[in-house]
Amino acid sequence: MTFQLTKLPYDRDALEPHISARTLDYHYGKHHKGYVDKLNQNVAGTNYEDMVLEDVVRTSFRKKDTSVYNNASQAWNHTFLWDSMKPNGGGRPTGALTGLINEQFGGLDGFHNEFKESATGQFGSGWTWLVADDDTLAIVSTPDADSPLTTDTMPLLTLDVWEHAYYLDYQNSREEYVDAFLENLINWDFAQANLEALDAQSRLSASR
Ligand code: FE
Repeated sequence: MTFQLTKLPYDRDALEPHISARTLDYHYGKHHKGYVDKLNQNVAGTNYEDMVLEDVVRTSFRKKDTSVYNNASQAWNHTFLWDSMKPNGGGRPTGALTGLINEQFGGLDGFHNEFKESATGQFGSGWTWLVADDDTLAIVSTPDADSPLTTDTMPLLTLDVWEHAYYLDYQNSREEYVDAFLENLINWDFAQANLEALDAQSRLSASR
């Protein structure tokens, strides 16, 4: 079995003017595709071929199969990233997320500030995540290819803070890119759906 490059959930120019089609041509068409291609080369003829991508990430992390891990994790992270944004995104969260954001960050402004601080504070390449940690929310940044998949927390949404994600549009200003994400692109529906899936899962395991 080979791993497939997931389809971009919108046209390559759909996030303009905040993220250009040129950036998505490179970021999706070259970088994301490159991770999937390298992963397929790395796993050919191994047990990893028969696993779902999440299990490849977790197993290769545990076994310290660094090249498999880096490419599998980057393949997974980028799919999660595309869903974390949408055309005409931004605005306010819906459903149970609203209360949790108020509780944890004192409101949407507090969330924006903490997310921005974490994203701009991540030195070098990495990712910034909103995660569910038991009954609370948290913002964490991870270096390079790392993600919450190898921890006990559950990712709800992410932003790629590698330079390749923003350099063509914002040059070295990661700050402007993070602002554009928070104000115009963030897909709260995706985060809410991930939270609901997690609630359903924990209800299921509690009733066993
Ligand atoms: Fe990237």
